[in-house]
Amino acid sequence: MKPAILGGTPIRNKLLPYAKQYVDDEDCFAVNEVLKSNFLTTGPKVKEFEEIIANYVSAKYAVSFSNGTAALHGACYAAGIKSGDEVITTPITFAASANCALYMGGTPVFADIDEETFNIDVNEIAMKITDKTKAIVPVDYTGQAVDIDAIKDLVKGTDIIVIEDGAHSLGTKYKGTRVGSLSDMTMFSFHPVKTITTGEGGIITTNNEEYYTKLINFRSHNITRDINQLENKNSGEWYYEQLDIGFNYRMTDFQAALGLSQMKKLNKFIARRKEIVNRYNEAFKELDGVILQKNAYFSDTVNHLYVLKLDLPKLKVDRKEIYNALIGENIGVHVHYIPVYWHPYYQRLGYKKGLCPKAEELYNTLLTVPLFPAMSDEDVEDVINGFNKIINYYRR
Ligand SMILES: *Cc1c(COP(=O)(O)O)cnc(C)c1O
Repeated sequence: MKPAILGGTPIRNKLLPYAKQYVDDEDCFAVNEVLKSNFLTTGPKVKEFEEIIANYVSAKYAVSFSNGTAALHGACYAAGIKSGDEVITTPITFAASANCALYMGGTPVFADIDEETFNIDVNEIAMKITDKTKAIVPVDYTGQAVDIDAIKDLVKGTDIIVIEDGAHSLGTKYKGTRVGSLSDMTMFSFHPVKTITTGEGGIITTNNEEYYTKLINFRSHNITRDINQLENKNSGEWYYEQLDIGFNYRMTDFQAALGLSQMKKLNKFIARRKEIVNRYNEAFKELDGVILQKNAYFSDTVNHLYVLKLDLPKLKVDRKEIYNALIGENIGVHVHYIPVYWHPYYQRLGYKKGLCPKAEELYNTLLTVPLFPAMSDEDVEDVINGFNKIINYYRR
């Protein structure tokens, strides 16, 4: 069959995006109720949302933020990252996983990935640890849990703090326990493409009370009224103090209401994501020319992304042409991610291409396949048929 970009008929008429939020009438009603209430920003819904997330991941505390990036900034602040400190992360992630170290004056250090799971390789982390290492930001890429026990073993007896970037992994279980209580701090994002949404939004979960207090203060200007934290304890009721530099990183109450309403649907979202992933695995396993991401035994994964590697030696063209051909079929593929240190800003900071060869090799072959709970069975089959058509056409 002739690809649509060469004049053939596309597999479908309308572009299927790679991700899309699911918002229903119940969500709209929940948001509307708050809009008509007394609290628009931090109010009862924020508290309720934090409690439900903490409870869901079995963490003692959860602190919501205006977005996941702000939450990571807060976590790096709570971890005490400062100038000269090194923070190890993966290059195959969204820039925010590394930027959070830079916000605090720290230095991101990139550790290469495992070629099969595409997650950060614990052995590579071990090689990058120095006496300046202050934190590790492992990312549960696509939703697959990193080997957190192995990472914790690595930092045992040191003061290195583990901040897990769980932007993709709400609902994922590591050795039977949900991601969110396993690291010193874990971040979840509620951007519309993520597993649940609050529009913009993020959260840090932790079992550590000291981090909790720092996170609460940091997201609201580092201003406190807590008598235990005040220097001047003999003032009036109006009195507050700014303890350190802080930001306005608060989530609004109507966003929290959306989050609460979305949480009611989380089990359904997870079930549908798993159903689609199973169908993809079954179909793409048979397709000569693509390579599946390996899922490690310890991760019961809720995929946020579904990615494939192109088996380029078997194909006549490179990733760009396969990408264009699939878009031509109206299959909204994407690429996650460009190695972070390839960005011009990081290049100007002095990071050199070639730093993490496995990540760079992966990047050249990667494609993200559409995955979101509102996809119909027909959409799923369109994606599979589209890949079959294009890969078969361009196979050597
Ligand atoms: C989405 C995402 C973030 C940032 O979250 P925002 O809520 O968009 O700020 C951080 N890390 C990863 C891996 C992400 O996918």
